[in-house]
Amino acid sequence: MSRSDIIDLRSDTVTRPDQGMRDAMASASVGDDVFDDDRTVQSLEARVADLLGKEAGLFLPSGTQSNLCGLLTHCGRGQEILTGEHYHVFADEARGVSVLGGVSLHPLAQDKDGSLDPARIKAAVKPDDSHFPETKLLSLENSHWGQVIGQQRCIDMASAARSEGLSVHLDGARLANAALEQQLSLEGASFFADTVSFCLSKGLGTPLGSVLAGPKPFIAKARRLRKMLGGGMRQVGIVAAAGHYALDHHLPKLADDHRRARTLSDTLIDTDKLHVMRERTQTNMVYVSLPKGGYKSLEKALAKQNIVITGSDDSVRLVCHHDHKDVDIDLVVSAINQWAEK
Ligand SMILES: *Cc1c(COP(=O)(O)O)cnc(C)c1O
Repeated sequence: MSRSDIIDLRSDTVTRPDQGMRDAMASASVGDDVFDDDRTVQSLEARVADLLGKEAGLFLPSGTQSNLCGLLTHCGRGQEILTGEHYHVFADEARGVSVLGGVSLHPLAQDKDGSLDPARIKAAVKPDDSHFPETKLLSLENSHWGQVIGQQRCIDMASAARSEGLSVHLDGARLANAALEQQLSLEGASFFADTVSFCLSKGLGTPLGSVLAGPKPFIAKARRLRKMLGGGMRQVGIVAAAGHYALDHHLPKLADDHRRARTLSDTLIDTDKLHVMRERTQTNMVYVSLPKGGYKSLEKALAKQNIVITGSDDSVRLVCHHDHKDVDIDLVVSAINQWAEK
């Protein structure tokens, strides 16, 4: 069976570069980026920074390294970052900032929409006292678990942090989804943050790559850190060209992913075996809860129809992306409904 026979709903990271993107990569002009010779990387860094309303950008191999570089540029040994208990920088990056940088993370409980209560942010800032780490930064995330944290809420969280003298970083791995849902520009969805990490390899569909954006001196410092972390790359314009292609051709199509997620969410039927958490369908992801132990049976039933999912014992996250067609979503709906009604 070829990969194209499979409908993969595990993540929007599973997309494969289409022919147009491969052509763009093949014909990219390149140079050694560590020697500042790669014009394609430089133009991508400038382009993303401009879209985000920041002075400068830095291309990195992954979102994790982009966050790591960003956070370690903001903070040093003995300092502390406030973030959400389920945000990627705390939950899914192996505590890299602590392991590699001696920086502690203070996870805060999240509200239902994924946001952090501004009062809780302020209360978590430590007083200037030798018993405590020095609280330096608030690290936000949007979109979070498919949900969009509204612009005003983001502004309020950032203001709470600033009133305590903190800087603000935004993990915008899926910022484009959050912006689209709110009909905001990328800048409008992130202006409240000093620095932003933006992924090209999620919904935008490149094989790899993220851009960290922020003030010029900050990015210069982050560039040195990137080299230290082993992220200085050579003729990487070949990948940056995929980023340019994604901004030209895939960014305008993100709305299709949201529309398909909406279709899934609206047409899956709730039964004893399945409940769609419809309030969470805001971007390209649909969350479904299952009875305890229900996942294995669903996974097996769908695998028979070449549909691939991933989930936990009692829930599953269905992610729509660029490689899907409308007819794929129809197949998924009928396969899941069939299973749920049995
Ligand atoms: C995927 C993701 C990242 C990290 O990206 P990688 O490229 O997988 O390292 C960071 N933050 C969020 C919210 C993500 O979804």
